[in-house]
Amino acid sequence: MSDYDFDLFVVGAGSGGVRAARVASGYGAKVAIAEESQVGGTCVIRGCVPKKLLVYGAHFAEDFEDASAYGWTLPGEPTFSWKTLIENKDTEINRLNGIYKSLLKGSNVELFESRAVLKDAHTLEVGDKTVTAERILIAVGGTPVMPDIPGIEHAISSNQAFHLEDLPERIAVVGGGYIAVEFAGIFAGLGANVIQFYRGDQILRGFDNDIRNHLAAEIVKKGIDLRLDTNVTAIEKNDDGSLSLTLTGGGHQEVDAIMFATGREPKTHGLGLEQAGVELNDRGAIKTNAGLQTSVPNIYAVGDVRDHVQLTPVAIKEGMSFADTVYGGKPWSMSYQAIPTAVFSQPPVGTVGLSEEEARDKGKDIEIYKSTFKPMRHTLSGRDEKTLMKLVVDKTTDVVLGAHMVGPDAAEIIQGIGIAVRMGATKAQFDQTVAVHPSAAEEFVTMR
Ligand code: NDP
Repeated sequence: MSDYDFDLFVVGAGSGGVRAARVASGYGAKVAIAEESQVGGTCVIRGCVPKKLLVYGAHFAEDFEDASAYGWTLPGEPTFSWKTLIENKDTEINRLNGIYKSLLKGSNVELFESRAVLKDAHTLEVGDKTVTAERILIAVGGTPVMPDIPGIEHAISSNQAFHLEDLPERIAVVGGGYIAVEFAGIFAGLGANVIQFYRGDQILRGFDNDIRNHLAAEIVKKGIDLRLDTNVTAIEKNDDGSLSLTLTGGGHQEVDAIMFATGREPKTHGLGLEQAGVELNDRGAIKTNAGLQTSVPNIYAVGDVRDHVQLTPVAIKEGMSFADTVYGGKPWSMSYQAIPTAVFSQPPVGTVGLSEEEARDKGKDIEIYKSTFKPMRHTLSGRDEKTLMKLVVDKTTDVVLGAHMVGPDAAEIIQGIGIAVRMGATKAQFDQTVAVHPSAAEEFVTMR
């Protein structure tokens, strides 16, 4: 019998924490979890899930437009209600919050619905209670970073974007990463005038350059006013409630709202980690070894709080690896190689493995296969949208090092291609695979 109240105390009931808690409990550990907000974490409550619902919502405008080419006559001019979308999204998020709670209950994990702060390596203050645990897992995730510029209090982050009272008529989105690109697409699809400011020379830094250029061209076609090499340096609120933005280079822009998607930082502040002796890096992220163990051997960390790969499925895998290793007697650690990922822009991006630039930087002798085409759906609709698919192949071994695409269903397509890339499939093996016809995905096995 342990001298502690719990075998494992998990701080943060997001994707990584919940998975670790449930799996550890399944192995017989006495587990508790603390959450100061809704159970489900960033992804479920204020990230991937509500975002994807808004992306679905944003698509209808084009669908209505395209319908006539397929013989449909709409009963009238479609109208959109932001309030309805947000209310329905909230209902779904509350439902998921409930599901997460019952999953924890069903797994015998005790839920503390309050903030937990470490007092020492085995003691936590959870609301007005003090509890002890043999091991502690930190899974508190991250939070948006807002730049320190005059008037930043007038700006929102993605957290508030999910709860805006109304859809702004004119909105500026600052940043060129996943969140900026996704929200620019959402706002534009729903009918706002969107200006996206990015300080660099092309959005989605780190992605394959062809993908970046192709997506940038497509989002501009969809009406997003993309301003590259431009940043917002100050925000002033006008008497009528609108905002006046000062831009690098001295320009000005009037908008009704501004959202910053300028990265996320680990939410380690005020958690008592220093008291417990847990080492952080200079960005405030928890340092761990390959076994997800911090500088204090009984304290572990998973997910965005490590500031490593900020993706939900990565946090979930880390949570499972922790629980299997520490409580299940089945040690394994996750591989961070060839992680497939998607940006839910419009059109979306799917990518796995090395970009052309990364492959060249690694000194690989490579062959590039590319295909650009109009999605079949738009042969009738006449919409000016192009899909790009690309393979990066090692000339010496014929192994497909990377697969990338911009186009409808990119996320769905790249998941399957991810398995092949992960298995080290060769271009010859891609080519031996029979095409699914007619599909966009078949381009990945027919590129010559
Ligand atoms: P990212 O790190 O992806 O992008 C941040 C962007 O903000 C970059 O374009 C960066 O520019 C820019 N930036 C940073 N600081 C400033 C500043 N002071 N002024 C102006 N621009 C600035 O962060 P996100 O917030 O978009 O997303 C965080 C993470 O969440 C992502 O990295 C991703 O891992 C995850 N995520 C995943 C999603 C998915 O899987 N679909 C969806 C949403 C998020 P620069 O490039 O020059 O550094």
